Amino acid sequence: IKKIGVLTSGGDSPGMNAAIRSVVRTCAFHNIGCVGIYRGYQGMIEGDFKEMGPRSVNNIVNKGGTILKSARSMDFKTPEGREKAHKNLVKAGIDALVVIGGDGSFTGALLFNSEYDFPVMGIPGTIDNDIYGTSYTLGYDTALNTVVEVIDKIRDTASSHNRLFLIEVMGRDAGHIALNAGIGAGAEEILIPEEDLGLDRLLDSLRKSKAAGKSSSIVVISEGDKIGKTVFELKDYVESNFPEYDVRVSVLGHMQRGGAPSCFDRVLASRLGVKAVESLLEGESNYMVGILADKIVLTPLEQAIKGDSEIDTELLRVSDIMSI
Ligand code: ADP
Repeated sequence: IKKIGVLTSGGDSPGMNAAIRSVVRTCAFHNIGCVGIYRGYQGMIEGDFKEMGPRSVNNIVNKGGTILKSARSMDFKTPEGREKAHKNLVKAGIDALVVIGGDGSFTGALLFNSEYDFPVMGIPGTIDNDIYGTSYTLGYDTALNTVVEVIDKIRDTASSHNRLFLIEVMGRDAGHIALNAGIGAGAEEILIPEEDLGLDRLLDSLRKSKAAGKSSSIVVISEGDKIGKTVFELKDYVESNFPEYDVRVSVLGHMQRGGAPSCFDRVLASRLGVKAVESLLEGESNYMVGILADKIVLTPLEQAIKGDSEIDTELLRVSDIMSI
């Protein structure tokens, strides 16, 4: 392998820049070329490339987002699109790819490999932590810290006014952010898609909180929760059962995806980038690099895509005990 292409695809997350930097500098360390591909697979199809040396990634380890930009590409889902992308890579002398993204991006990478026998390596970049084969995805730790900081601030208002706050956090179909940030911020109740607590259980929990003398409450709700109501409908439901409660809704939104990456995410990105490039140089392909038990390991992309990133049920118990 003489030249590696790197791209970021799908939703952005803090730490993607640190991973790009790591890929670029590991290539330089091993005296091979590195090409940045802009706007994910769309840029691959349009030939939007830039050669990247070690100095091209100065001062980005601490920046959120991705300097290579990200995109969702419909064209890459067509054989014609992928053919164009392949031609561009060959023309540019790129002979392996590092794809930083989520399971959709990995699905595209695996398909591309099966059609063109092109070496690919994935780095999990998403705040949702919903990928099998890694205990942490890039950006997850940063997002947790952002969410906890914001809930701390909301709690100031909640306790000053005896209010109940329903706070919706991101996570797609996974409750990792809700569960961990909820425990970290001392939420009274946490609703996640993996566990259908049901509305009765929520009311029950709020009743208990009141009986225990709590005057304000924080309920953290994962956006993918299967409770069958939007967070605003939930507010109406809670108010109709607790007329004495002043219920407020806060949907945290995209602030959760931004900001400077935490030290944990920067270190993780640096480690994953080194492993991704060195694995390609050792002739490996179709893997995702991840972290398990603090070791950087490879998981077949196919498993990373299909497997479930399970919630630790012990965390649910901890949350219950903490909100006594
Ligand atoms: P994420 O990688 O964060 O899960 P997406 O699901 O949006 O984000 O996927 C990112 C991109 O990966 C898509 O815009 C598309 O270009 C490519 N992709 C996703 N699924 C496929 C597929 N089945 N075949 C080809 N490309 C795909």
